Parts: sequence; structure tokens; C-alpha cells
Amino acid sequence: MERTEISEIGGEFALIDRIAAATNNTLPETIKGIGDDAAVIDSGEFYTVISTDMLLEGIHFDLSYVPFKHLGYKAVAVNVSDIAAMNAVPKQITVSIGLSNRIPVEAIDELYDGIRSACEAYSIDLVGGDTTNSRSGLVISVTAVGTVAKDRVTYRSGAKPNDVVCVTGSLGAAYLGLQVLEREKQVFLADPNMQPELDKHEYVVAKQLKPEARTDIIYDFIEGGIIPTSMIDISDGLASEVLHLCKASNVGIRVFEENIPVENPAMLTATELNLNPITVALNGGEDYELLMTISQEDFEKVKNLSEITPIGFVTEEKGAFLVLNSGQLVPMKAQGWNHFDA
Ligand code: ADP
Ligand code: MG
Repeated sequence: MERTEISEIGGEFALIDRIAAATNNTLPETIKGIGDDAAVIDSGEFYTVISTDMLLEGIHFDLSYVPFKHLGYKAVAVNVSDIAAMNAVPKQITVSIGLSNRIPVEAIDELYDGIRSACEAYSIDLVGGDTTNSRSGLVISVTAVGTVAKDRVTYRSGAKPNDVVCVTGSLGAAYLGLQVLEREKQVFLADPNMQPELDKHEYVVAKQLKPEARTDIIYDFIEGGIIPTSMIDISDGLASEVLHLCKASNVGIRVFEENIPVENPAMLTATELNLNPITVALNGGEDYELLMTISQEDFEKVKNLSEITPIGFVTEEKGAFLVLNSGQLVPMKAQGWNHFDA
């Protein structure tokens, strides 16, 4: 029998494309299936959006430095982020867990403390889930449901030439936080008497352990009457998401290196770790900020929102490019988390 490695067909994204190509949805209520941050379903007066994400111990988190409470919060936040990426407001979640016998009840209590805290922060309800055994460590799968007015739903596919490319918050910190935690873990493993040096890197570690979904921006957009032409959340690094918008919208994008927002504490950590902060913003992951394109008309209103930075523009000519400070154009490549390439 034929046997093809997933890496041979091009990794995770190619695999999803393959599944999507072989899937034929038939219901008229299914407005958008596989291929965006969330599926879109016609609920009559409005659209319902649904997104799901699975976190696996050893792949997405390491229990030696991630507290259960933070893990619970993050599992919810990353799903809410996908709902926000559709310009939708999150409403309910279900949470499924696979448990090994290493995990005591107290740890599950902590995990759900974090989950409930996120529910409070994002004004959503935990309405169900599933519980099962796992032989390969802790598994957490969250499904989030949200709603959006039909004329406000935002896909990856709506970017138009001359739109302004914008990003919320700042980038790169979550990846740097992970590098700090990994480094301290190695130090600890080598000498358990060493105390972790995390204080200096508090900012980036907090961004890694407790990322926030940008639902605040979605409420700002409703209030300001702003509808992005396209949007995606940044889970795999800016470059990967820019490429997704280009592909889905059939356009090109230019991002100016000098406009990519990186906060000072992230700059300092990057310098200490000998990493280029722009490379980290482009190829790191887990920032969970929103990347969007805004029409020239709406951009006038977006200018007043301090949490949004214009970083580039959409071109009719295909291709995603980074414009260096020198003016040189460099093609962007997706080097985000691609678990099947490892
Ligand atoms: P995100 O990073 O926003 O969570 P993904 O890259 O995980 O997005 O998924 C992109 C799209 O592919 C989504 O529409 C998602 O629902 C779909 N998808 C991912 N994995 C599968 C799968 N195994 N079967 C069907 N659809 C999938
Ligand atoms: Mg997403």
C-alpha cells in the first residue's frame, strides 16, 4: 500500500487543503466551511461562528513550567481569538479533556479555575465538553461559538488593493517568553538548586503564559462602525498570516519592517537571547493579535484607535514582501509552527 509522509505533501496547511478539497458541504446554512479562522453558519437573524483548537502536552505546552490555571485560561483565549478574527463576539465554549493518571483532581480544579476566569474575562459561558483517558499526556480541546451581524462578518478573503494592513498590539513577545522559559528549564535540569531568573523577563513570560484574545477591538469596531475587509488572528507569526490573507484574497501585501510593532521589553529580551526582534515577530508564534486589512475610508476612523498600528498595504500584484528599512523587498516565507515539518 502507498504511504506518503505528511511532510511530503507540504505539511499541516497542505493537509488541511487536501481535506477541504475532498469535502463537499451541502447545507444552505453552511456559509463558510473549512479554510478560515472559524466556520460561519446562517442562524436566521445573524451568523453563528464556530472554531475549535486542540492543545497537547509536549507539543503545545510543557507542564514543567506552565501552571494549570494559565493553561486553562490560554486554551480558552486562543479559541476566542479565532472567533474575534471573524469580527464576531464570543458566546459559549465547550471544553474536552484527555487525562492521564498523573493528573490529580487538584490540578483539574486549577485548570478549570483558569477556564472560568477566561469565561469571565470574555463574558462567555462554559456549556459542556467531554472527559476521557489519555495515554499520551494531557489533552485539552476547546470549541468556541460566537455571533456576528451578517453584514459585519470578516473573512480572510476580502482584502482589496490599496487597503491598509494593520495589526493590533505588538508582536514577538510570546515566542520570546517561551525561549526564556525553555532556557530556565534547561538551567534547572542541569542544577535543580538554581532559581529561575524570570523577573527580568516578566513581560514576555506573561505574554507566553497568559495571552489575551483581542475581543476589545471587536467591540471598538462595532462602536466605531468599522468593518475590516479581511482579518486573521496571529497564531503562527506575522509572515504566515500575511501569506494566508494574500492567498485567500488573491492579492499581494507589503509590510514595512520599520512599522512592525515590538515593545521595548521584548526588544531587550531579544537582544539578550541574540535574536532579531523582527525575525521573531515574523516567525515566532502565539501572539494572538489580529492582522487585518482596512479600506482607505475606514482607516480614517481606525487612526483614532491607539491599539492598532498600520504596517503596510495591499497590492494588486501578487506576492507578500517585507520592505526593509533600506527599501529592499524581501519575499515573506511562512516559518511558523508546522508540527509535521519538525
Ligand atoms: P487557526 O490557526 O486559525 O486555528 P487552522 O490552521 O488550525 O486555523 O485551521 C484552518 C482551517 O482548517 C479552519 O477552517 C479549520 O477549521 C480547518 N481544519 C483544521 N484541521 C482540520 C481537520 N482535521 N478537519 C477539518 N478541518 C480542519
Ligand atoms: Mg486563527
